[in-house]
Amino acid sequence: MEDRHDAIIIGAGVIGAATALELARLGYRCLGLDRLPAAGYGSTSNSCAIVRVHYSTFDGIALAWESYHYWHDWAKYLEVPASHDIARFVECGCLVMKTEHNHYLEKHLRLSDELGIPYEQWSAQMIRKRLPIYDTRRFGPPRAMNDDDFDKATGSELAGGVFWPTAGYVSDPQFCTRNLQSAAEAKGAEFRFGCEVVSILKSDDGRVRGVRLEDGTEIASNIVVNIAGPHSAVINEMAGADEDMTITTRALRQEVVHVPAPEGFDFERLGMVVSDSDIGCYVRPETGNNILIGSEDPECDPREFVDPDDYQSNFTEQSLTQACRYALRVPNLGIPSTPRGAVDLYDVSDDWIPIYDKSGIPGFYMAIGTSGNQFKNAPVAGKMMAALIDHCEKGHDHDLQPLSFHLTHIDRDIDMGFYSRRRSINNESSFSVLG
Ligand SMILES: Cc1cc2nc3c(=O)[nH]c(=O)nc-3n(C[C@H](O)[C@H](O)[C@H](O)COP(=O)(O)OP(=O)(O)OC[C@H]3O[C@@H](n4cnc5c(N)ncnc54)[C@H](O)[C@@H]3O)c2cc1C
Repeated sequence: MEDRHDAIIIGAGVIGAATALELARLGYRCLGLDRLPAAGYGSTSNSCAIVRVHYSTFDGIALAWESYHYWHDWAKYLEVPASHDIARFVECGCLVMKTEHNHYLEKHLRLSDELGIPYEQWSAQMIRKRLPIYDTRRFGPPRAMNDDDFDKATGSELAGGVFWPTAGYVSDPQFCTRNLQSAAEAKGAEFRFGCEVVSILKSDDGRVRGVRLEDGTEIASNIVVNIAGPHSAVINEMAGADEDMTITTRALRQEVVHVPAPEGFDFERLGMVVSDSDIGCYVRPETGNNILIGSEDPECDPREFVDPDDYQSNFTEQSLTQACRYALRVPNLGIPSTPRGAVDLYDVSDDWIPIYDKSGIPGFYMAIGTSGNQFKNAPVAGKMMAALIDHCEKGHDHDLQPLSFHLTHIDRDIDMGFYSRRRSINNESSFSVLG
């Protein structure tokens, strides 16, 4: 095998490309491989790309708050002039409705105070002022469409909400992944597309020594990183890396539907990201004055874990359910008869917290289980993975003494053991896309 690299990354989605960039910045001759034709073509391409700062755990919120700073100055992070044609972070803020389900956001507010994250408390009246298309009655808990009480109000008024201004969405998740690819290439990284990894090669001593592609080509490297998104479990099994893991990952099918904003209201300019567990939906503005509606996976909806290579990629009744739930909040919403939007997969871990870790196989690492909520953290995930790989390759045992990672913008340290593949299930998690 003459084709040799310091590190091979399987997967050129947003986290794979960010990790390639950070490894290249550390001086690793890095190769990104993807079976699809270009960077960000996998689940990243259909990401809602919402960047928010509220999470229910300290580590979750600290990572998101640190990451926000990279999106806020994307050009600086990429090390390109501000005039460069790069993806846009639309900083429209994020409103989260206070509900019994999220314990009226008490934990989120305490953590925001601890980290100095700005927020505003909005009454139901204030919500109606900012979003005059909204009906602020309570409808929760969310119900299935065939429930006779689907559209019945359960209370006269929501308990209000919290607006985090330092939030928004990235205009084009695929384009921002290409930005990461270009930045990584400028530092010497290489990418190859249309290359499916079918085998992880190991030496007699058990260390990884490279990968084999579908066409039989072998590429040598003593470091291989699994960032294969919804295929993460397939790659771990291929490597035999799943044997010492207590947390596993599975592909979960999701539908995201786009509907036009009600006539007369410019949601694209005046709207914001809204997380609304009272109706089990989150929304954000979408180009062309549309509204993108995703699901917060309420308990009444069955979770559809699938084979990532064999699943129903057309819309089902689920997209209509999501649109109808949002129509409870926005009575003038028009719902097109033919659904538009996306069907794709989350790579979900058992506690909906990602795994950023080494493995039991020397040289094999993983950034997986991103559970529908790690797009926003890609820049920091890339930095953490590069630091972790460098640390382990210098002989440290991260399992015994987990690496402490410094978040430079917010000047905090986080214990990377939080993201271990061998952790106990974290009961502080929301066990949902909200993390
Ligand atoms: C519908 C949806 C909405 C989302 N919304 C948000 C959001 O609003 N905010 C947020 O923060 N996060 C969100 N997420 C989550 C976020 O998009 C993901 O966490 C993130 O995009 C994952 O990036 P990745 O690089 O890990 O994986 P992917 O983008 O999935 O990339 C993995 C790559 O690995 C490649 N691959 C797989 N197997 C092989 C193989 N054998 N050989 C070679 N290549 C291989 C694939 O082709 C793919 O390109 C959402 C996800 C989905 C699906």
